[in-house]
Amino acid sequence: MSIPSWVPIREELRGEEPYGAPQIDVPVRLNTNENPYGPSPEAAADIAEAVRQAALELNRYPDREATALREALAGYLGHGLTAAHVWAANGSNEVMQQILQAFGGPGRTVLSFAPTYSMYPEYARNTHTRWVAGRRREDFAIDVPAAVALIEAEQPDVVFLTSPNNPTGTALGADELNAVLKVAPGVVVVDEAYAEFRRAGTPTALELLDEQPRLIVTRTMSKAFALAGGRLGYLAADPAIVDALRIVRLPYHLSAVTQATALGALRHTDELLARVDELRSTRDETSAWLADRGYDVAASDANFVLFGHFTDRHAVWEGLVDRGVLIREVGPDGWLRVSIGTPDEMRAFRTALMEVDPR
Ligand SMILES: *Cc1c(COP(=O)(O)O)cnc(C)c1O
Repeated sequence: MSIPSWVPIREELRGEEPYGAPQIDVPVRLNTNENPYGPSPEAAADIAEAVRQAALELNRYPDREATALREALAGYLGHGLTAAHVWAANGSNEVMQQILQAFGGPGRTVLSFAPTYSMYPEYARNTHTRWVAGRRREDFAIDVPAAVALIEAEQPDVVFLTSPNNPTGTALGADELNAVLKVAPGVVVVDEAYAEFRRAGTPTALELLDEQPRLIVTRTMSKAFALAGGRLGYLAADPAIVDALRIVRLPYHLSAVTQATALGALRHTDELLARVDELRSTRDETSAWLADRGYDVAASDANFVLFGHFTDRHAVWEGLVDRGVLIREVGPDGWLRVSIGTPDEMRAFRTALMEVDPR
């Protein structure tokens, strides 16, 4: 893709590509960390009924504050949170962009630790926020002394931490988070898109919200909740932080259809999350199988596993696509990421990988 020169696009956007994993139509899609299990017919019918009711009033703008939805999300999160602590938007991608619109911007800095989510630098670019990336350790954990030194030197307005991190699966310990919170002068965002998949004993940053007014914890219904198509992301923070975000949000940004869909899905929380335990076991089995075959495997608290090293990872990725299995070419050079699917899908992945990379 190339934008013709007569199109007066901003100079820094010239030559950029739209973000996105390849959407290739193959039988086994293990590339975007979706939940492989869709909602049951009953849950789908309930969501459809909620949308039908919303449709009867589509001549009206939706509830700008999405109050009922924020209450339901607060109830799901627990930790004594209320609607005033919760903010929602079209995917946590929009939530993150709003965070940078409110707390980043020209003359301001956002800092994160690579390898991490490849969208962060794009939100920074789009909001004219300076992007600074520190490095993670060899095992992909945060290098605390280096992180503290970098934050002290850069004085970032926003720090993005990701727990579990994408694409490595690495979770953040309470000590690491506290060390960052202690020195960060601005807001600290912990992106917990995969929190529901974390292993027992791994903390959530929600526990610290009480004592840390500049902490923001983002979540999404796209992964564990099996609602990627619904586009609903949210955050929990001090109500004053939520008020700051309300200033930059577009009016009526969350459609009545989206609000009804998410509320309908939240009424089926238990069912939609029922497969999370199974996916966590499959993740651990997949990690063990890959390690047995001699791969380096990043310890994962998420619903995907990063493994390597390949001298030509693209050839391996392509060989898998040829066998009907789509995984993701992402992360540090030489590594590949596989999302956790159904037992049948994982069997197809293992068979294809053994053919492409016999060891
Ligand atoms: C998938 C993902 C998200 C979620 O994006 P949505 O816009 O909510 O679908 C957020 N952060 C990370 C690190 C992710 O991998």
